[in-house]
Amino acid sequence: MLHEFGHAVYDKHINPKLPYFLRTISHISTTEAIALMMGSLVDDPAWLSAVVGVPEAELDEIREHLLWGGRADRLVFMRWALVMFHFERELYADPEREDLNSLWWDLVERLQLLNRPLGRDEPDWAAKIHVAVAPVYYHNYVLGHLIAAQLRHHLEERVTGGPFFMSEVAGRYLLEAVFGPGARNKWEDLVLGATGERLNPDYFVKTLR
Ligand SMILES: [Zn+2]
Repeated sequence: MLHEFGHAVYDKHINPKLPYFLRTISHISTTEAIALMMGSLVDDPAWLSAVVGVPEAELDEIREHLLWGGRADRLVFMRWALVMFHFERELYADPEREDLNSLWWDLVERLQLLNRPLGRDEPDWAAKIHVAVAPVYYHNYVLGHLIAAQLRHHLEERVTGGPFFMSEVAGRYLLEAVFGPGARNKWEDLVLGATGERLNPDYFVKTLR
């Protein structure tokens, strides 16, 4: 829900006076960034304490689990997203190729370090709904994770000086720097404008430590 509300709050605050064709998100990766930033709060001890009201004693018991769980989630997801990216790139380069089933499992083995079931030759790739209904979308989750980490770092270090989710200033900042301008800026320029630098994966890497 937090993830989808992230998309919703972005859409809700796009300046309604913009020309029709600009009255939309800057890019799929920027709306995913907001959704991922909001969604990640479910395993953020500070958010669970301040917003949900989980007692500190209970949080202490699960704090390490939450932090490591969040890191593991991001690492596992990145490798999975790479499977999707490489698979789709090969698929669209040659949609008629007949070895898609084994291409899928080759990538799963190489990138996710999982072994294919012995003797299996089925279109398992087709079970991933994005291939059919949201093609060439998945890399935006990777970009979204990178943007989210950079944006949160900027918000908390330079704008609010504390958790962004406790700050009305953070809300106003997001409104002005990210949501409001709609599709006036390319995503690269939106990242530069909102964080003061071009996309820099270091911030995401730091969330894994
Ligand atoms: Zn999303």
